[in-house]
Amino acid sequence: MHKKVYEALNWASSFLKEHGRDENAGELLLMWILGWNRARLLSELRMVLPESKYNHFLQAVKEHISGRPIQHIIGYEEFFGRKFSVNEHVLIPRPETEELIVAVLERVDSYFDPSSKLKCADIGTGSGAIAVTMKLERQHLAVSASDISEAALKIAQKNAETLGAEIDFRHGDLLEPFSNEKWDIVISNPPYIPIGEEDILSEVVREHEPHNALFGGEDGLDFYRRFANDLPKIVNEKALVAFEIGASQGEEVAALMKKAFPNSKTEIIFDINGKDRIVLTQIN
Ligand code: GLN
Repeated sequence: MHKKVYEALNWASSFLKEHGRDENAGELLLMWILGWNRARLLSELRMVLPESKYNHFLQAVKEHISGRPIQHIIGYEEFFGRKFSVNEHVLIPRPETEELIVAVLERVDSYFDPSSKLKCADIGTGSGAIAVTMKLERQHLAVSASDISEAALKIAQKNAETLGAEIDFRHGDLLEPFSNEKWDIVISNPPYIPIGEEDILSEVVREHEPHNALFGGEDGLDFYRRFANDLPKIVNEKALVAFEIGASQGEEVAALMKKAFPNSKTEIIFDINGKDRIVLTQIN
C-alpha cells in the first residue's frame, strides 16, 4: 500500500494498455476520485494516496477493464465544455455531435434574423446534450426536446436543470410530440447504425449503450426516411433541418431531403476525420 499518485497512475496505464483499453483512462478516473483537475493532479504526483482513495481507484480501473465505459463509472461526459450526466439509458455524447452543434449554430446565425424568436426541436434527445447546448449557446431559441424513452427524458431533464437551460421536454415517438406546431429549426442525432453492422461498434459500446439509440434498421436509414416523410408537414416555410448521419450515408440522406424539400439547399458536411457526418437542409 502507501502508493504515490504517480505510482498508481503508472500501474493503471500499463494494466489498461495490457487489456487493450485507453491508457489515459487512469488519469480521468483518479481525477474524479480525488475531485481534482489535471493541473492539481500533476502538481501532486508525489503525494501518498490515502488508502481508501487508492482502493477506490483500483476498483474503478478494474471496472473499466471489464468493459464498463468510463463515463458510466464517473457518471458524466463533457460536451461542448459542459458536464452531462449519463447512464445506460442514453447514448454517451460524442465529439462528432459537437461538430453538428457548431455547424447548426453557424447556420442559425447567418440564416435567421437574430431578433426573431425561433422554435427549435431536438428529436431523440437522449442525455439532452443537443437541446441543452443549443439553448445555452443561443438564448433566443425556444427549445423543445423529445425522446421515446422515459428513462432518457429523466436524465435529459436533470441535465437541463443542473446546467440552467429552460427546455420544453415531450415524451413520444419521433415527430409525433411535435406534430401540432410549426418549427423553425429541427435537429436530430437519430440511431443510424445498420442492423448487422454492429461489428463497427466497439464491444464497450455494443454492451453498454442503448440499442434503441444506435440501430436504424437494415440499412440504418429508417429514421431519415420517416423524417423525410413527416417533416414537410411541421416545418415553417423558412426552416433549417440538421441531422447527424453515419460515415457513408451522406448521399442517401441528402437525396431523401432533396426529395422532401425540392427547393431547398442541402449540404453534406464532413467531420474532422473526413467522414460524412452532417446533412443540413435550408428550406427556402
Ligand atoms: N456515433 C455513434 C457511434 O458510432 C452512433 C450514434 C447514432 O447511431 N446516432 O457509436
